[in-house]
Amino acid sequence: MNLNLKARQNNTYDAIVVGTGISGGWAAKELTENGLNTLVLERGRNVRHVEDYPTMLMKPWEIPYNNQVPPEEAKHYQKQMRTGYTIRQTTKHWWVRDTDQPYEEVKRFDWIRGYHVGGRSIMWGRQSYRLAPMDFEANAKDGIGVDWPIRYDDLAPWYTHVEKFAGISGEALGLPQLPDSDFLPPWELNCLEEVLKETMAERFNRVLTIGRTANMTQPHNGRGKCMSRNLCSRGCPYGGYFSSNASTLPAAAATGNMTLRPHSIVDSVIYDEELGKATGVRVIDAETLETTEYYANVIFLNASCMNTTLIMMNSISDRFPNGLGNDSGELGHNVMDHHFRVGANGEYDGFEDRYYWGRRPTGFYIPRYRNLERNDRPYLRGFGYQGGASREGWQRGVRELAIGEPLKEFVQAPGRWTMGMTAFGEMLPDHSNRVYLDRDKTDKWGQPTLVFDVEFKENEYKMREDMKNDAAEMLEAAGMKNVRTFDDPGGPGLGIHEMGTARMGRDPKTSVLNGWNQVHACKNVYVTDGACMTSAACQNPSLTYMAFAARAANHAAEELKKGNL
Ligand SMILES: Cc1cc2nc3c(=O)[nH]c(=O)nc-3n(C[C@H](O)[C@H](O)[C@H](O)COP(=O)(O)OP(=O)(O)OC[C@H]3O[C@@H](n4cnc5c(N)ncnc54)[C@H](O)[C@@H]3O)c2cc1C
Ligand code: SF4
Repeated sequence: MNLNLKARQNNTYDAIVVGTGISGGWAAKELTENGLNTLVLERGRNVRHVEDYPTMLMKPWEIPYNNQVPPEEAKHYQKQMRTGYTIRQTTKHWWVRDTDQPYEEVKRFDWIRGYHVGGRSIMWGRQSYRLAPMDFEANAKDGIGVDWPIRYDDLAPWYTHVEKFAGISGEALGLPQLPDSDFLPPWELNCLEEVLKETMAERFNRVLTIGRTANMTQPHNGRGKCMSRNLCSRGCPYGGYFSSNASTLPAAAATGNMTLRPHSIVDSVIYDEELGKATGVRVIDAETLETTEYYANVIFLNASCMNTTLIMMNSISDRFPNGLGNDSGELGHNVMDHHFRVGANGEYDGFEDRYYWGRRPTGFYIPRYRNLERNDRPYLRGFGYQGGASREGWQRGVRELAIGEPLKEFVQAPGRWTMGMTAFGEMLPDHSNRVYLDRDKTDKWGQPTLVFDVEFKENEYKMREDMKNDAAEMLEAAGMKNVRTFDDPGGPGLGIHEMGTARMGRDPKTSVLNGWNQVHACKNVYVTDGACMTSAACQNPSLTYMAFAARAANHAAEELKKGNL
């Protein structure tokens, strides 16, 4: 046998999945469970569940520098640190070093990333909400961007499918703007949050509920119950929250159909002009810089919104001189995130004899209430709030002048109740918000860098007025004192919900993907991460990426069986 042919055979699979984060994990699970021999490519190192969470059980006194990162180390994470909370001694190993992974900003964009097996499924906040029927209809109704090619009912069974496996705790409410999930029992609100809930119902006819979260309130699918340590950002020894490492990748491995290859940077998709379809991917070995080609009948791009876009833009052929599937010219455009960091907080006198159990890994959620039946605000769409109430801890003693016994007594008692909330608002798709490649500036693996030219527009800024003032009004109505508002949008990207750069749509002239997440003009390539989103809604989006990935993977398996791909 010809040696080249043999090498090609050895590198040939039924399916390839690029990326092992939230969406890639789901693609891997569903494809392998459909019997497809699947190669899963991940640019970062391997992270085995439990074994590779080095800080998960560290005690406070074992953590150097009071969990802070010294300046000589911090200089490598200048962009990742813009969140204010990501780079700590206990978590820094999950984040990219900006000095190794550069990007450019025409305008500030906070691109917050983790490159390793599991991607950001290890560090995510786990808030999990379905989009609503109105979200899939909004663009058509408002004449914004393009219409979604699907409706809520197309995705609803797949939401149920992923929720049953992932384990989402929450309370059923029957709200049209926030469909219920297939829930595990909810976490509890504390006494002050109950006060706000009652006030909101009585005074404003608005709803407050416990956050819907992928932290499990009971053992589920072989994983342990969350123990309320709230140390999820280090990795969970019990598998108490959903991550690719604890959930989807082990399920894919159990089929015997998955080959996982870490340190594999996918450079581009190989397009065969004669066959009129993709045949594989080019991979740069992150350690040796060697380039290898892998082949498959179907390819899933799940490298996260911006990296999937980079790969597509970098996949140049005679048929696609401007990037794979970019007949519409929309690839890289319509960047969206959620705008947030606007809201209010305050203090409460009372409930001195009340406390709460453990470190609950979620807060409360206030579903969208603006612009529902009719648009009566000076902006389109809406926002939801995430927040919580707690008692001040011993740290407040730092600012007290007491010493000795009085200080000891003071810090041993819980402090005042405080409560705060921040809003997450919908950002509209806008063609002028875009990313593109700078081929002259390459990283140490020879890949072009991404350039971000994205900004919040008038609609977002108008919405923020309500986001701020409503928060203060509701807290004051609930009896909070010293209510203070805040409004600091930061850069787009800081919501870490980047999406929209290869949007779905009905018309190949104005969109990149069809209603099954297939590239319009190259149907054996599927994109099911945030890049596929046609509008952003205001709910945290990862549950929707999971549902899209599961739906598309099962579609691909069917299409392969029918010989359509
Ligand atoms: C601190 C934080 C809090 C968050 N909170 C929430 C929340 O509460 N709710 C919510 O819905 N979302 C939340 N998110 C967002 C959520 O993490 C993302 O939406 C989600 O992880 C996206 O999934 P993904 O599969 O698209 O990408 P990722 O999870 O980022 O995974 C992408 C993977 O692809 C790999 N990759 C990239 N490029 C290549 C390449 N060229 N070749 C091979 N592999 C590649 C990466 O290394 C990575 O492993 C949060 C994120 C962060 C960081
Ligand atoms: S809070 Fe729960 S899910 Fe998070 S690390 Fe602790 S036990 Fe695990």
